[in-house]
Amino acid sequence: MIIIKSENEIKIMKEAGRVTAGVLERIKSAIKPGITTIELDQIAEEEILKNNMAPAFKGYNGFPASICVSINEQVVHGIPSDRVICEGDIVSVDVGVRYEGYHGDAARTFAVSPVPDEAKRLIKVTEQSFYEGLKYCNTRYRLTDISHAIQEYVESNGFSVVKDFVGHGIGKSMHEDPQIPNYGRPGRGTRLASGMVFAIEPMVNMGTDEVSVLLDNWTVVTNDGKLSSHYENTVALTDGEPIILTTIE
Ligand code: MG
Repeated sequence: MIIIKSENEIKIMKEAGRVTAGVLERIKSAIKPGITTIELDQIAEEEILKNNMAPAFKGYNGFPASICVSINEQVVHGIPSDRVICEGDIVSVDVGVRYEGYHGDAARTFAVSPVPDEAKRLIKVTEQSFYEGLKYCNTRYRLTDISHAIQEYVESNGFSVVKDFVGHGIGKSMHEDPQIPNYGRPGRGTRLASGMVFAIEPMVNMGTDEVSVLLDNWTVVTNDGKLSSHYENTVALTDGEPIILTTIE
């Protein structure tokens, strides 16, 4: 069942989203060769706590950290560790924040220069695929219109979308109905309505869409070892244009 949020609930989620986006800005300026992924996690947690909010990922199904850090062939859910970031890495950072019982969820992929042009293009296409989906994120459309737009854009650029993990509704729970695949035929699923809030999160692979979970039970990697990129925002639906909640404005 999709839970519709009131204007006031969306206002609270905008606050959570603002801090979520702020954390990613902090990470963006901190990320450089030589820093470890656990240091990035500490920066994120400090930023969240400073704003009197809570790191939503920490303890979620036993996840041990405040952010997921997924490097190169890692798709999502990488666990912060003493791994050192290197020149040429592409680093996906996913952060979740809880505030007054509501959640913000967003992810970005950062290139640690110099990286090959094709890796930069992967990151750009992943980000743009979110915006292609966003065009269908209002009450004139159905749920899978978002999914279809993302898949079509990604595949027309020669990359593949991950099918094993999907976007989701978000509110009092970090993962609510509906699931939002990044693929599929258009015109299906629920008709979109004002007050729905979604985390739309394309995960895009340079090679095939096949992925596996490592023995740590968290880290998802591409089976072919090629690069993967992730981009996510929490978005509120209105009668008119969708509102991205995970921005610093
Ligand atoms: Mg998410």
